[in-house]
Amino acid sequence: VVILLFGPPGSGKGTQSRLLSAKFGIPAISTGDMLRAEIEAGTSLGDTAESFLARGDLVTDELVNQMLVKRLEQPDCDGGFLLDGYPRTVQQAAFLDHYVTEKGLPTPIVVHLDVPTDVLIRRTSSRLQCSKCHRIYNILHKRPNQSGICDADGAPLVARNDDGEEVVRGRLNGYRKLTGPVLAHYTGGNYYPVDGNRSTEEVFREIQTLLEPAVAKSANRNSPR
Ligand code: AMP
Repeated sequence: VVILLFGPPGSGKGTQSRLLSAKFGIPAISTGDMLRAEIEAGTSLGDTAESFLARGDLVTDELVNQMLVKRLEQPDCDGGFLLDGYPRTVQQAAFLDHYVTEKGLPTPIVVHLDVPTDVLIRRTSSRLQCSKCHRIYNILHKRPNQSGICDADGAPLVARNDDGEEVVRGRLNGYRKLTGPVLAHYTGGNYYPVDGNRSTEEVFREIQTLLEPAVAKSANRNSPR
């Protein structure tokens, strides 16, 4: 199964993708996390991407497409995968369509998390992320057991330097401008809008209910006859 999770910054994409990945046994691939890992590792790709991320701008399609393909060719993606934060542009969507067709993968199932702007600003300005496993916390309603430390691996929690209100507003504008047409690309077919302005559990339950028939259909399609 191929799942594309859409939603503006702060919509709960990262959290839901981790839950869905565990539920359906597929890797959750976040192009944002991959880029941050490249920056941290000081690779040449990371060096190129760094200023784009700091400004809240999208990195080039070419750079992110190449990086993604390399990841999708890893064996853990053989049974499907979930993409978080990709595709962000119509060009990336077209690139992914081509990849999916070429590899004979099932049609992507698209889940779109919808959350009002003021809630997004509040959420992003209070969130922290594990510097190692990238798990998301929130100082308002999802605190770690021990302040500043990840529950899962004990690594320090950090605020993303692109989560300041100004940069987030810019990222939201960019999201609307560029991703609007991408969503339009997917409406109809396997497209599921979901109200993301609820608790993690409620949102997850709804996504699971929506996805189960589609996942079963896509599993049947792929099972040997
Ligand atoms: P995210 O963690 O998904 O909010 O992504 C953080 C930042 O990484 C974005 O603001 C972009 O600068 C960059 N980025 C992540 N995914 C993409 C993508 N698919 N295309 C272009 N830039 C991306």
